[in-house]
Amino acid sequence: MGNNITSTIIRLLRSLLAFFLPGGLVLLVTFLAIHFNLVAPWIDIIEKVGSYVILAIGVILGWIFHRSRLVFVIFILFLSERTLFYFGAGGSFAFAYDNSVLLTNGILLPVNIALFYLVRERGLLTLGGITRIIFILLQPLTVYLLLRMQPDLFQHLSHQFIKYTQLEKLPLTQPVLLVYGIILLVFFTGSVFSRGSIVRGFFWVLVSTLLAFIAKSNGQTPTVYFCGAGLIIIASVIEAAYAMAFQDELTGLPGRRSLNTALQGFGRNYTIAMLDIDFFKKFNDRFGHDVGDQVLCMVASHLRRVGGGGKPYRYGGEEFTILFSGKSKEEAIPHLERMRQSIEAAQFGLRNKNRPKKPPQKIKRGKTQPKTASVTISIGVAETDSSHSKPTSVMKAADQSLYKAKKRGRNCIVS
Ligand code: GH3
Ligand code: MG
Ligand code: MG
Repeated sequence: MGNNITSTIIRLLRSLLAFFLPGGLVLLVTFLAIHFNLVAPWIDIIEKVGSYVILAIGVILGWIFHRSRLVFVIFILFLSERTLFYFGAGGSFAFAYDNSVLLTNGILLPVNIALFYLVRERGLLTLGGITRIIFILLQPLTVYLLLRMQPDLFQHLSHQFIKYTQLEKLPLTQPVLLVYGIILLVFFTGSVFSRGSIVRGFFWVLVSTLLAFIAKSNGQTPTVYFCGAGLIIIASVIEAAYAMAFQDELTGLPGRRSLNTALQGFGRNYTIAMLDIDFFKKFNDRFGHDVGDQVLCMVASHLRRVGGGGKPYRYGGEEFTILFSGKSKEEAIPHLERMRQSIEAAQFGLRNKNRPKKPPQKIKRGKTQPKTASVTISIGVAETDSSHSKPTSVMKAADQSLYKAKKRGRNCIVS
């Protein structure tokens, strides 16, 4: 019981950390640097070249990682920052409508970030890519022309829904804050409920730019926050690339590469469990590959909760590995047994679509499809001892045990 609570707390802390890293950390550093005036010695140079440097890094990284969205969002941030810098309050090209420049920025920035989150990746120099660049460029131009032709067009952006003096002190008005708040909330929800590093990155970008918009405008603080926002995007793209190399895309578990790295760093005592779903080929044939994929995710979520310090990996296909660092077989097996039983007991809901796409081979015509399905797993366990001291030989021993578990009739553990 106590173990369960500890592992729940550890999982909670892990998700909190995953939510905070890397975007929240970059923002925190930016905030502290501004708050304690650490940027002061470099502020002139940041103001002059910061945005251009971030834009250049973004374009290069976007090119290398094939992430056009990175480039588009960095470009949006760049334009927003530069228009505020030159045309906002105190800017060298500021004209009578500097406040409208701020308010239109406050609306267009979150709307564009949301739009570019939704659109698919497109090559930069394809028709789609160039259209997007033009779409981004046309916006400040349109706002400028509209302001020149019809200065009071943006008046309603200053509309007051409620009277609240604290709100009135903010540079952003209520309609702008409303739009900003809704988009921010959507991204917050998205980052809590999904593993995607990009959605989390965009959330922290929006927090950073919000701080830029509501900063006491001395002209320099917003630029630093915007540079921070650019760094957040860059960091989350690097994180996504890292995840792609080390994490399995379907289940979100660390993949084979992570497993090999972890094994190299292990101490002298550990236990390895190899797991394999029983009759999974038949399962796929009967319910379709998509349902099979969903079952793999379901099994992965049980593996994550194994307890006893066990760390799961997707070894490949429908095979998984769980590493117990510093644990003997005897210590690991009760946790594995509980997990085996929980997978056996889990009923997997089948959606009532006309599955599978291919005609079922095992079900006779006229029989109705069941509403739920379940799978079982076989587990082979091995630990380090005098005859198995190297990770590869422990793995081999666990694999042999797994083979025995299959022979013994499946849905069991052999050690
Ligand atoms: P056994 O009980 O002996 O393990 O039987 P099995 O059918 O599970 O064993 P086998 O290794 O022959 O088949 C594994 C099957 O797993 C083959 C493939 O159709 C399926 N599989 C592997 N990777 C995936 C995947 O990513 N998604 C889905 N849906 N199926 C997968
Ligand atoms: Mg297999
Ligand atoms: Mg199998």
